[in-house]
Amino acid sequence: MDISSRQTPNYTPEHKSLTRETVATLPKVVLHDHLDGGLRPRTVIELATECGYGALPATGPDALRGWFVDAADSGSLEKYLETFAHTCAVMQTIPALHRVAREAVEDLAEDGVVYAELRFAPEQHRERGLELGAVVDAVVEGIIEGEKTAALAGRTIRARVILCAMRHADRAQEIADLLVGYRNDGDREHRGYVVGFDIAGAEDGFPPSCCTGAFETLRRELVPFTIHAGEAAGIDSLEGAVREGTWRIGHGARLYEDFTADLDTGIEPGRVSAFVRDRQIVLELAPSSNLQTGVVDDLVDHPLPLLQQLGFACTVNTDNRLMSGTTMTDEMMLLVDTFGYGVGELFELTATAIGGAFIPEPERREIMSTLIVPGWDELAENGTGGTTGPVTVDGDRDPGASFELPEEDLAGIDPQLLAELGIDPDDLRPRG
Ligand SMILES: [Zn+2]
Repeated sequence: MDISSRQTPNYTPEHKSLTRETVATLPKVVLHDHLDGGLRPRTVIELATECGYGALPATGPDALRGWFVDAADSGSLEKYLETFAHTCAVMQTIPALHRVAREAVEDLAEDGVVYAELRFAPEQHRERGLELGAVVDAVVEGIIEGEKTAALAGRTIRARVILCAMRHADRAQEIADLLVGYRNDGDREHRGYVVGFDIAGAEDGFPPSCCTGAFETLRRELVPFTIHAGEAAGIDSLEGAVREGTWRIGHGARLYEDFTADLDTGIEPGRVSAFVRDRQIVLELAPSSNLQTGVVDDLVDHPLPLLQQLGFACTVNTDNRLMSGTTMTDEMMLLVDTFGYGVGELFELTATAIGGAFIPEPERREIMSTLIVPGWDELAENGTGGTTGPVTVDGDRDPGASFELPEEDLAGIDPQLLAELGIDPDDLRPRG
């Protein structure tokens, strides 16, 4: 049953006049962005030339960009995943990995992203004999350089790494051990850059229990992880992820499959989805990608607004910028244009994302107060958010700083979340 398409989200679009230009300037957070799914088309071509890879389906950057999006548009996760054969093929050397990581950070920063978790599967980059550790080092060094070059361009961004294991490859334990070793014994500068674990690849036929030993190791070593679930497979896969003790869920869009709808009581989450909501397990939703892989047939059917309304911890993500031809600004604009999202809803997604990041809590709080809130303040001050009924939020930020949101939008933000992020809910007060 597709409940999402029957429920019109209770948002009022009248005052929602966010433009693309405005959204582009907002400080954003992305938790789910694949390194091998976000290359610049020109870089794919140049790296292919450098390494002698002759199987690219197009020779010009624009044609190649179009090919990736078309191929990923097929409506099947398996087809979608085929596109990665080309990107991974050109990411088999230290300089190539370094460059791709650096450019990803630069591109995200250019898009106004202030915190990113980039994920990739080290095992996919060993075709030319690289050791797993060398692969991770190259990516981390590229990320560090990307942070520096972004700063030189006047953009502040912090980026971290999630190591993925491919579900079908049976190497999850090895990758979990690599991650634990890296975290405990890695180079001091690099250590903090690798923050979590994930399983990726074909979900159907490979339930989370396929990697249960790896998850056991990570739980024992207190390393957080996320699991792709509820994308190509449904509620059983989601239940499997929850049973493994996942901290977040990659996508989770199909949680609505265990909802029931009743005229008297409305929509009731079932056993699994209620657990996900009640434990506030963060959902890494990616509307464009979900549309491409056939989770929904039409964006208007995407469950994100419904899940957000029902109190799930929702975030919005790019997943694969190259394959989806998207950016964080684009994903947010889809929500603005399709569902009438305004400042309040976008802020809630951003606050949930930084709250769910795998970095230490003091760092999350610092990013919230120094990088995120000031940017939204500026939006309020410039009045470009189309806000009405201004409300002031004072967090533990610079004295005198103010943050205006429409009162009705603020009503939708979980006070607990703001408290966790160091913003006192009592400070949500009408101005004047
Ligand atoms: Zn993904």
